[in-house]
Amino acid sequence: SAKDAGRDHFKFFSRAMNAKLMERLELEAELRQAIEQQQLMVYYQPVVEVKTQQVVGIEALARWNHPQMGWVSPEKFIPIAEASGLILPLGEWVLKEACSTTRQLQQLGHPVRVAVNVSYQQFRHKGFIELINTTLAQTQLAHEYLELEITESLFIDEQAQTQYMIDILSQLGVRFSIDDFGTGYSALSYLRRFNVHTLKIDRSFIGGIGNNANDASLTRTIIAMAKNFGLDIIAEGVEEQEQHAFLQSHGCGYAQGYFYGKPMPYNDLLDFLQVDEMEAQTEN
Ligand code: C2E
Ligand code: MG
Ligand code: MG
Ligand code: MG
Repeated sequence: SAKDAGRDHFKFFSRAMNAKLMERLELEAELRQAIEQQQLMVYYQPVVEVKTQQVVGIEALARWNHPQMGWVSPEKFIPIAEASGLILPLGEWVLKEACSTTRQLQQLGHPVRVAVNVSYQQFRHKGFIELINTTLAQTQLAHEYLELEITESLFIDEQAQTQYMIDILSQLGVRFSIDDFGTGYSALSYLRRFNVHTLKIDRSFIGGIGNNANDASLTRTIIAMAKNFGLDIIAEGVEEQEQHAFLQSHGCGYAQGYFYGKPMPYNDLLDFLQVDEMEAQTEN
């Protein structure tokens, strides 16, 4: 009967829900343990100047290789960390790791800047400014070398508080970039109001260059707009020569993507930087 079918449907539905919920709770418990036992890693992806393809910076990206499950994508564990509060210890650890790595690179003669992703919950947490200051002091990295990647979600509520924090940190020399630009809240007036330095064009637009006229024209428009506002621009997710050429011909300043270099552990990055600088020397 219809009633039985409905009941079966409900049973199936709730079993599927339970499985989802169980998986989430399990992952959360595993993640908590991974943070405590320092099983997470930070990988670094080069940021290059488009014109020269020289590395000017790196982005720190959290990595989790679980002993049984294998690699768990940040797209999966970052939302769980954000929902559970684990993003606070996780983010603090990534920040420390990233700053101390960058300081080491500088001492080895590679003056790169480091970009660290900051979630809404971290930025809104009351100790955030102090965390940044103490971490930079402890790792002896100058404020100018830290770039915080925030998203448009921070411009929706508590704008006065957001502006206050960005102003204080900017005055100390920290830079701010808008990650995944073009995918979120679309009122652009905040670009005038907030002291941000860089727009990162979301990789979904870059992926469409060459086969989607809208994506190509959006990318061009964002580059032109960033210029008008005096902002730096980083194209994300550049995978092909054709995309690189497009960005170069439209005057995009900086880029990131598999075409230049994938996210990699510190030791690989060191090799990558050395080769990069050797090539620069032979070209000059
Ligand atoms: P995101 O900040 O936009 O980082 C860029 C993502 O694009 C990274 O994914 C990177 O591996 C990937 N990517 C870079 N170049 C290419 C390319 O050429 N092609 C493709 N297909 N992908 C490329 P990942 O590492 O999986 O991170 C996903 C997201 O998770 C990040 O997006 C970021 O929002 C978040 N995330 C990662 N680490 C952290 C962290 O330490 N803290 C916070 N709050 N979020 C993080
Ligand atoms: Mg990012
Ligand atoms: Mg991000
Ligand atoms: Mg992004």
